[in-house]
Amino acid sequence: MEPARRKEPALTAESLASDIADILGRFGVAPSRYSGVGRTIASPITGEGLGTVADSTPAAVEAAIARAADAFRAWRLVPAPRRGEFVRLIGEELRAAKADLGRVVTLEVGKVPSEGEGEVQEMIDICDFAVGLSRQLQGLAIPSERPDHRLMEQWHPAGVVGVITAFNFPVAVWSWNAALALVCGDPVLWKPSEKTPLTALAVEALVARAAARFGGVPDGLVQVVTGGREVGAALVDDPRIAVVSATGSTRMGRVVGERVARRFGRAILELGGNNASIVTPSADLDLAVRAIAFGAMGTAGQRCTTLRRLFVHDTIYDALVPRLAAVYRTVSVGNPLAGPVLVGPLVDAAAGAAMDGALAAARALGAAVTGGEAVAAPGAAGGCYRRPALVEMPAQQGPMLEETFAPILYVLRYGDFAEAIELQNAVVQGLSSSIFTTDFREAEGFLSAAGSDCGIANVNMGTSGAEIGGAFGGEKETGGGRESGSDAWKGYMRRMTSAINYGRSLPLAQGVRFDVE
Ligand code: NAD
Repeated sequence: MEPARRKEPALTAESLASDIADILGRFGVAPSRYSGVGRTIASPITGEGLGTVADSTPAAVEAAIARAADAFRAWRLVPAPRRGEFVRLIGEELRAAKADLGRVVTLEVGKVPSEGEGEVQEMIDICDFAVGLSRQLQGLAIPSERPDHRLMEQWHPAGVVGVITAFNFPVAVWSWNAALALVCGDPVLWKPSEKTPLTALAVEALVARAAARFGGVPDGLVQVVTGGREVGAALVDDPRIAVVSATGSTRMGRVVGERVARRFGRAILELGGNNASIVTPSADLDLAVRAIAFGAMGTAGQRCTTLRRLFVHDTIYDALVPRLAAVYRTVSVGNPLAGPVLVGPLVDAAAGAAMDGALAAARALGAAVTGGEAVAAPGAAGGCYRRPALVEMPAQQGPMLEETFAPILYVLRYGDFAEAIELQNAVVQGLSSSIFTTDFREAEGFLSAAGSDCGIANVNMGTSGAEIGGAFGGEKETGGGRESGSDAWKGYMRRMTSAINYGRSLPLAQGVRFDVE
């Protein structure tokens, strides 16, 4: 039988809205959740409304937190591998819905289709990872210094996890947290970006399907509350939320981190980046051009790991930078639904204005700019389209020291390797970094304790496009949090150390004596 054909790409706002309503309806989202009184959710593709989503009221948020706290009491007692089975079913639902959910991401965030679907694939991958993890939440057996004693460590569920997400990875970041939290025994209460609640409602419906197939889960195990920072703040301040995982700007993280610390809660902060690559004289330039292009222009420069600064050795500057400039002049920019393009829209007009402002500031400092101009996208007049900008800087200063969430790549010459490392580390953010070299001393030096100061450091690839198997996160003002693979699961559990005396005497540690009659 021929597979069902996808509908032709829709170009009018009305058809974008009906397209998304069609998908949400099939997922089982009640129309009242995305129509009626509420915030208008604009598609970056055309700038027009996809639907309206009401902010959760304070009473609704309070009720959601209370339900999550109740769910914790039940879910923590479900054996971890059984919790993994629920996550396995979520992964199955995501597999079946990959094309549809990817399209919701494209419509709501403006990502090109392969990146929209790639984001869903990342969700599937972390579910698979978490299923295996559900049988590996292991503690340690530790040799005791006392006779007839056993010393051990266990990991227990931490409690409700509040997840606050940014617009640019509207569903993948939730899944990095949720898949781990659920197998760890924690309910998940999600406050998506106010720009992207429709993807969250879609995911909530898919999770409900998985819950039905699982045979039911505690009421309130996985919930979504919608709205802006006030709704996020209610999660941040509530002591019933054991872990607050917040992804977004450093400005947001500074507030959230302080508030969670004030109540001695646990925060996982995933904040802004100002990521750099170094291109050394021995680099494979063909490979470097492709990697730099994807790192700097992919997702229209709206990834936390987007390449924003490039340090090029003097001796290869004239071989590399004109090649990059040619790519910048010709890369396809436009409506991601109208045909194959590599660079879609910025999220909104404010993002375009921020890009224009940063380029003006760079020009005022003497920079030479290739690209950066507004692009007219057929059928998408209300979207904000910009040609990515390659900005040759006289020094690392001004806007180069900031994260402007747009496709701007600042380029600077360097003379010696130590200087390049110093320039790369001389910003307040510490998320991702990379080096292009075939000299193993440079590669290993870059990865050494004296090299990159970032949470992610790659060799012969760009700064973005991380896999879920590694721990994801960054240092300094990127917040220090780790999510996703490796042992990031420990952030969602509490550690219990236990000493067990199976003898008849009471030897004290460190030889301390305390003899009473
Ligand atoms: P943002 O900071 O504007 O918003 C992020 C989320 O935080 C939203 O849900 C928002 O409602 C909420 N929020 C804002 N202020 C809050 C407050 N005071 N209390 C509680 N919640 C609050 O960020 P954005 O524009 O949506 O996303 C872009 C930013 O996110 C960039 O800086 C990017 O680098 C960063 N980001 C980081 C990572 C990472 O893993 N390090 C991943 C994706 C995006």
